Amino acid sequence: MAGFDYDLFVIGAGSGGVRASRVSASLGARVAVAEESDLGGTCVNRGCVPKKLFVHAAHFRDDFEDAAGFGWTLDDRSFDWSTLVANKDREIARLNGVYRRLLVDAGVDLIEARARVHDAHTLDVAGRTVTAANILIATGSQPSLPEIPGIEHAMVSDQIFHLAELPRRVIVVGGGYIAVEFAGIFHGLGVATTQLYRGPLFLRGFDDDLRNFLASEMRARNLDLRFEADVASIEKVAGGLRATLVDGSRLEADAILYATGRVPKTRGIGLEQAGVALDAKGAVSVDALSRSSVPSIWAIGDVTDRINLTPVAIHEGSCVAKTLFGGVATQPDHTGVASAVFSQPPIGTVGPSEAAARERYGEIDVYRSTFRALKHTLTGRAERTLMKLIVDRASDRVVAAHMVGADAGEIIQGFAVALKCGATKAQFDATIGIHPTSAEEFVTMRDPV
Ligand SMILES: Cc1cc2nc3c(=O)[nH]c(=O)nc-3n(C[C@H](O)[C@H](O)[C@H](O)COP(=O)(O)OP(=O)(O)OC[C@H]3O[C@@H](n4cnc5c(N)ncnc54)[C@H](O)[C@@H]3O)c2cc1C
Repeated sequence: MAGFDYDLFVIGAGSGGVRASRVSASLGARVAVAEESDLGGTCVNRGCVPKKLFVHAAHFRDDFEDAAGFGWTLDDRSFDWSTLVANKDREIARLNGVYRRLLVDAGVDLIEARARVHDAHTLDVAGRTVTAANILIATGSQPSLPEIPGIEHAMVSDQIFHLAELPRRVIVVGGGYIAVEFAGIFHGLGVATTQLYRGPLFLRGFDDDLRNFLASEMRARNLDLRFEADVASIEKVAGGLRATLVDGSRLEADAILYATGRVPKTRGIGLEQAGVALDAKGAVSVDALSRSSVPSIWAIGDVTDRINLTPVAIHEGSCVAKTLFGGVATQPDHTGVASAVFSQPPIGTVGPSEAAARERYGEIDVYRSTFRALKHTLTGRAERTLMKLIVDRASDRVVAAHMVGADAGEIIQGFAVALKCGATKAQFDATIGIHPTSAEEFVTMRDPV
């Protein structure tokens, strides 16, 4: 590798790229990373972190309402959007600094510029030619928009984080987790919110009970959730925007957010010319070790369109570093990845949906429980919680745990470890619960449905 400027050149200092850079440098490699925008990538700047802060902001509305049942009187409530945005920006700037320090302290050369691949070992970076024994593509993904008349009036999630004003009326278009989360954020902040999804039910790929349960909980909160509904065109009208739906009906709003999917960021960075094979969606095709069709070019994270989540990108980044510089070919493990939807109420999930489990395991037992959390006996809130376990009958292993309810992400993270260890239903049954919690329901469900 001595003939090259670097042992590894990483394009993109997001979730995956930063981890791959740091681990590779710690293993003794000479590493550079190029970043054309903010350090930390989508998750830190335009994704997980600011979104979760907004979710917290939105949840205060419930908290204030719920407080009354416990004897609190809260007068003069008001919400100031610009305070939230400014405080969020301060935290993101702090995180950008943390990422910078992590890279510099690890001895990684940080180049704040756009990089382009020239050939298997050469890159163009800020007008310079740089060579590397290995190149890692960690460029992430970006929102995609349908081509409909007036789409230029719509926003994507990137823009929400810097809106000058909170709109009074919003239409959210899309049925993935990002659309669901933003609909919940806007609704919680007091914005009149309509969510449209063209399919029969949102959150495709999630367990059907979770999808139906969340839809009914969102509707119970008076969020205008419409399925089999899509926008045909958008026009500017006095006082806002007008969306004409495919059924001819019309809706007016101050803002229309499109969260209808993301595409891998592979265009215009020289990949095709370098011979890197892309799949039909434009993602870099990689093997089990994250190596592309060009042996010296690797790819991780959203740009490979495997499981598009931050912890997965980080894991893939570590694996590539270990493969290249740790002396151990390390395949990322994409099984049993838990995830959350920070909706209101939230979803936490690990393992296959009931339909997918039935297909994979054949004979399964399903345990399901719905209940009203203790807290809501005093708040008067009708919100219910759903918990579900799926057990492979042949081995007694719990193969999936799903939940809709307060703290679902926090709760499922713990159970994900048990599932990773191969816990059986008998072991769940032998576990004594923590009382009174909602989570104890996961170890007290005795009768399959
Ligand atoms: C609104 C939203 C909410 C999300 N919420 C969650 C969540 O709650 N939990 C979760 O796990 N995941 C969440 N995600 C997904 C998560 O953000 C991504 O899966 C993750 O960021 C992918 O990491 P990555 O390293 O592949 O790419 P990124 O983090 O996107 O990093 C790619 C980096 O490459 C840079 N780059 C691109 N091209 C070039 C170039 N040519 N030269 C130099 N630099 C370049 C980009 O500027 C960017 O900084 C969310 C995403 C969005 C959009």
